[in-house]
Amino acid sequence: MAEALRDARREPGECTLVAVSKTFDAEAIEPVIAAGQKVFGENRVQEACGKWPALKAAHPGIELHLIGPLQSNKTREAVQLFDAIQSIDRVKIARAVAKEMRAQDRSIELFVQVNTGEEPQKAGIFPGQADRFIAQCRDELELRIAGLMCIPPVDEEPSLHFALLEKIARRNGIDGLSMGMSGDFDVAIAFGATHVRVGSAIFGARDMKIAKASS
Ligand SMILES: *Cc1c(COP(=O)(O)O)cnc(C)c1O
Repeated sequence: MAEALRDARREPGECTLVAVSKTFDAEAIEPVIAAGQKVFGENRVQEACGKWPALKAAHPGIELHLIGPLQSNKTREAVQLFDAIQSIDRVKIARAVAKEMRAQDRSIELFVQVNTGEEPQKAGIFPGQADRFIAQCRDELELRIAGLMCIPPVDEEPSLHFALLEKIARRNGIDGLSMGMSGDFDVAIAFGATHVRVGSAIFGARDMKIAKASS
């Protein structure tokens, strides 16, 4: 990351590493916290609720991001546990999160997930509907949108998707860009990522059976 930031003539602190700990238990996460990592990502609310309350209690200052789809019946737990939700992609969820933040008197960072590849099986609002959705979140629900997030199609050149996400963010006056994973975080940093979500490069390969079930 340091090298990629330097190559892009960006400052060292301009990109946050979100360590993606999905499928790994507390025993595997502890050494990463001990090494100084503070920001973590999980893709399932239920799995995160099983391991993170204790980890957060033991290590103050941890910031936890939800990077996977959120069901509206999990909104309460999600707003309680997570410090950021990166997967806001429909009005129903945005409304439920807004309501829950009011009820809990808690403010967390919100990112809108954009399905830049318009893949039917993938979460995220399509690029053509993003401006309107962002405006709705801001104007009707009074939500602050901290950033945009995307997961490019596995078989496509990611830079096209990173550039598209940056363009949508810029025209909407949004600063945060969550893009780039183990295989392409350096490319994402060149395209302006403020958050990279890196799992296997930190924790090692995931058990594919578990990873599939939880994706
Ligand atoms: C699992 C996951 C990652 C991390 O992927 P790696 O290739 O292991 O770095 C990043 N973003 C999301 C949304 C994920 O689900």
